[in-house]
Amino acid sequence: MADPYDVIVVGGGNAALCSALAARESGASVLVIEAAPEDERGGNSRFTAGAMRVAYNGVDDLARLMPDLTDEEKANTDFGAYPEDQFYDDLCRVTQYRTNPKLAETLVSRSLETMLWMRSKGVRFAPIYGRQAFKVDGRFKFWGGLTVEAWGGGPGLIDSLYTIAQRAGIEIRYESRALDLITDDDGVRGVAIRTRGQTSMIEARAVVLASGGFEANAEWRTRYLGPGWDLVKVRGSRFNTGDGIRMALEAGAMPCGNWSGCHAVGWDRNAPEFGDLAVGDGFQKHSYPFGIMVNARGNRFVDEGVDFRNYTYAKYGRAILEQPTQFAWQIFDQKVTHLLRDEYRIKRVTKVSAQTLEELAGKLEDVDPKGFLAEIARYNAAVQTSIPFNPNIKDGRCTRGLALEKSNWANTIDTPPFEAYAVTCGITFTFGGLRINGDGAVINTDGVPIHGLYAAGELVGDLFYFNYPGGTGLMSGSVFGRIAGTSAGRSAKS
Ligand SMILES: Cc1cc2nc3c(=O)[nH]c(=O)nc-3n(C[C@H](O)[C@H](O)[C@H](O)COP(=O)(O)OP(=O)(O)OC[C@H]3O[C@@H](n4cnc5c(N)ncnc54)[C@H](O)[C@@H]3O)c2cc1C
Repeated sequence: MADPYDVIVVGGGNAALCSALAARESGASVLVIEAAPEDERGGNSRFTAGAMRVAYNGVDDLARLMPDLTDEEKANTDFGAYPEDQFYDDLCRVTQYRTNPKLAETLVSRSLETMLWMRSKGVRFAPIYGRQAFKVDGRFKFWGGLTVEAWGGGPGLIDSLYTIAQRAGIEIRYESRALDLITDDDGVRGVAIRTRGQTSMIEARAVVLASGGFEANAEWRTRYLGPGWDLVKVRGSRFNTGDGIRMALEAGAMPCGNWSGCHAVGWDRNAPEFGDLAVGDGFQKHSYPFGIMVNARGNRFVDEGVDFRNYTYAKYGRAILEQPTQFAWQIFDQKVTHLLRDEYRIKRVTKVSAQTLEELAGKLEDVDPKGFLAEIARYNAAVQTSIPFNPNIKDGRCTRGLALEKSNWANTIDTPPFEAYAVTCGITFTFGGLRINGDGAVINTDGVPIHGLYAAGELVGDLFYFNYPGGTGLMSGSVFGRIAGTSAGRSAKS
C-alpha cells in the first residue's frame, strides 16, 4: 500500500472539487482521482454553461455573490427574487412530489451560502443575460428562476476550481480510474485504482464518491432506463460509466431514487456519440417553446409551451426518443428567430431554411411532407392570435381545438424565411443512485451509514424524479459536495 491519505475523492467534476476543498478546510490531506486525462478533466460539469439555481431574496443577495455588478446593470435589470419556498416548490412540482423532502430542503436552504463559500474561495459568478433574460421596454427581465452562472461557464468553473484546489495543496491524479473500494468489517479503508494500466491500492481514512452517474454506459442505460436508451447521444463526459455507484453497491450501499429516470434533452441529430468539449452544450436546442416540434409523421407530440423551457427541457429528450426513428424537427418562422438561443447559430448544426412551407416540407429529412403540411395548417388555424405574445411570462397565448394543445407562446408559422433544426435524444445524467444521510454519508441496505464512505453529485439518488429544474445539477454537486467533504475531513481527523 502507498502512503495513506485522510480523504480520497473519486471524480474530477464540480461535486468532487467542492468535496475536496471542504475536506481540505478541516486540515485533511486530500487526493483527487480523476479518470480523465488532464485535458479532458472536469466531467459533465465542464460541458455546462455553468448555470446555477440559487435561492435569493433580491438584488442585494445577488450583489454579495457578484460584487462586480455595476450600478448600471442593477438599474437596467429586473432581477426579481427567487425565494427558498419557490425553489422548493419548483423542485417538488417538476419531480411530481417524489423528491426527498430532506435532501430538497438542504439543497435549497444551503444554495446561497454554498455559492458564497465558493465565491470566498475565488470562484466568480455573473448574471445569465444571454439565456435567461429578455429585454422589455429597454430593461432586462429574468425569468424561470435561473439568474446566475459561473464566470466562463462550465470550463471557467472547472478551471477556477482546479486552480483553487491545487493552491490549497490538494493532490490530483489524472488518468486514474477507481476500480474498487477497499473495505473491511469496520468500513471503507481506501480505493483500488488503475493509472495508465498500473493497478495500485491507496489507503484513506475516508472516501468521497463523486464520479457521476451511468449515462455514458450503454449497457447500464439499457438495463435500467429501458430499451432504446442504448441509441441516445451522451451530451457530456464519456467517463461517467457508473463506477462509483457500482463500487458502493458492492460495499453494501442502498440503491435509491429514480433508477429508470434521467435528464435528457433535444440534441443535434448529427452530434457525436459523446460530448465534444469544443462545442460544449451547443448541440442542445432549447428554444422549442417559441416554435413547434414534429416527428417523422409530421405530427406534433408534446405541448412545447406548457411551461418555461427550464421546466420541460430535461424530460423532452425522452419524448423525442419515443418518436419513430428517434428524432424530431423544431420549426420556427421569422417572427421568432431573433429569440433563438445562441446554440442555434453554431457551425455544427443540422438546419434547413425555406421561403415557403411547401419547400420546407420537402427539406425535412425523413418527414412525411403531406402529414407535416396538414399539421401546420391545423396548428396555424388554432393559434389564439388575440392574446398578446410575451416571452418573459407564461403568456397564455395558446391554441384551441387541437388534440394536443400548445399552452403558451403559440405563434402562427407563416412568415418566411422558415427555419428547422433536427434533434434527437441527448442524455445528460441519470437520476438513480445512492442513499445519503444529512452528513453526506452513504447508507447501507440496513439503513446504517457505511463508515468512511460519503457521496455527492450525480450519483446521489432520491433528489430528481422524471424531470429536473434547470441549473440544479451543479448546485446539488456544490451543496452536497461541500457537506460530504466536510464530514469526510472531520471523520478522518477525529
Ligand atoms: C452539456 C451539458 C450541459 C449542462 N448544463 C448544466 C447547467 O448549465 N447547469 C447545471 O446545473 N447542470 C448542467 N448540466 C448537468 C451537470 O453537468 C451535472 O449535473 C453536474 O455537473 C454533475 O456534477 P458531478 O461532479 O456530480 O459529475 P461530473 O462533473 O460529471 O464529474 C464526474 C467525474 O467523475 C470522473 N469519474 C467517473 N468515473 C470515475 C472513476 N471510476 N474513477 C475516477 N474518476 C471517475 C469523471 O471523469 C468526472 O470527472 C449539464 C450537463 C451537460 C452534459
